[in-house]
Amino acid sequence: MKVAITRETQDEETRVAAVPDTVKRLRALNLEVVVERGAGSASMITDEEYEAAGATLAESAAQALQGAEVVLKVRRPSTEELALIEEGAIVLAVMDPYGQEQALDAMAKAGITAFAMELMPRITRAQSMDVLSSQANLAGYRAVVEAAQVFDRALPLMMTAAGTVPAAKVFVMGAGVAGLQAIATAKRLGASVSATDVRPAAKEQVASLGGKFIAVEDEEFKAAETAGGYAKEMSAEYQAKQAALVEEHISKQDIVITTALIPGRPAPKLITKAMLARMRPGSVVVDLAVERGGNVEGSVADQVSEVEGIKLIGYGNLAGRIATSASLLYSRNLLAFLTTLVDKEQGHLAIDFDDALVKATALTHQGRRIHPSFGGVAE
Ligand code: NAD
Repeated sequence: MKVAITRETQDEETRVAAVPDTVKRLRALNLEVVVERGAGSASMITDEEYEAAGATLAESAAQALQGAEVVLKVRRPSTEELALIEEGAIVLAVMDPYGQEQALDAMAKAGITAFAMELMPRITRAQSMDVLSSQANLAGYRAVVEAAQVFDRALPLMMTAAGTVPAAKVFVMGAGVAGLQAIATAKRLGASVSATDVRPAAKEQVASLGGKFIAVEDEEFKAAETAGGYAKEMSAEYQAKQAALVEEHISKQDIVITTALIPGRPAPKLITKAMLARMRPGSVVVDLAVERGGNVEGSVADQVSEVEGIKLIGYGNLAGRIATSASLLYSRNLLAFLTTLVDKEQGHLAIDFDDALVKATALTHQGRRIHPSFGGVAE
């Protein structure tokens, strides 16, 4: 059975869905692996490395996809790519399915079985397949590095013969996977770190990394976590109280990193222009939620803008700015999931549609949408 890896076609996408190590492991599952020439170049992986790992090189996406029953990708296939993918093939990617009815119908029409890796349930068995965590962790790290790069002061406290440089104050909003890594990274660089979240469980996690927790801790806050461990959308009253507390805190910060997301909803707006105006000139804000509408008023996807004298960083794909590491972890996530979908002895597909992981991630199959949250209807 042939597995195809093509060069990502979406602008700015530097990641790739397989690395030489995962190619070797796919080969060990009795699978034939075809990689489009140049697919790994933006992740600093050469064609020769793929070949040495056991892949065959294809001259084009069309050639790579011809006869492939499995397609590994970073992003959802485009219309052009769908035209090249074989009917009946399975495609594993970050599908971004929310509000994308047309794209889902196009995948159904193309006859592919599309798996949205970001819908993988956060259960122990699926930890190695959790693309949200693997990529958010790197994004959180990179957010601090990006901020430090444009911040014109030092992060650590420095006591020198010429005088003392104070530690920078870093505030992280949203202490999920990305936020916790941002806290840890800023601490390692010597900053004085605080953080906020609407989930009560985050308080202890922030403290364990040496951060100070900032939040209105009322009854609503104490109940604000879904069974799946995600944030709930908070009431207007809570948001107003929290905004007042945060506004005061932000005015004293040097670097603010926002990572707040609620699954399937637009990102909550946490920082207004008026709040930015109260920060010291030269301060830096990084909006990790920019692709989902942004936590910060005025942040623009893939741009560093200046608002009220504040540098506002809106890189949409921060994990893609650390592409070699991101591709390594992402491709391991795909491999772990694909392993559950193939018969290792025979080297062919053996998908159990009753498996919890398949049920949670499969969007389309045999010409129709099948996911209940994304327009799936029973046969
Ligand atoms: P996410 O990317 O959906 O959101 C980022 C953070 O923003 C979350 O912590 C969320 O609570 C917070 N947030 C939302 N609205 C906010 C607001 N108005 N103000 C401040 N913060 C706000 O979250 P995530 O990183 O995917 O993590 C969500 C949870 O899942 C965490 O508890 C995490 O530890 C957990 N998790 C579990 C596993 C597992 O395998 N069990 C794996 C990864 C993550």
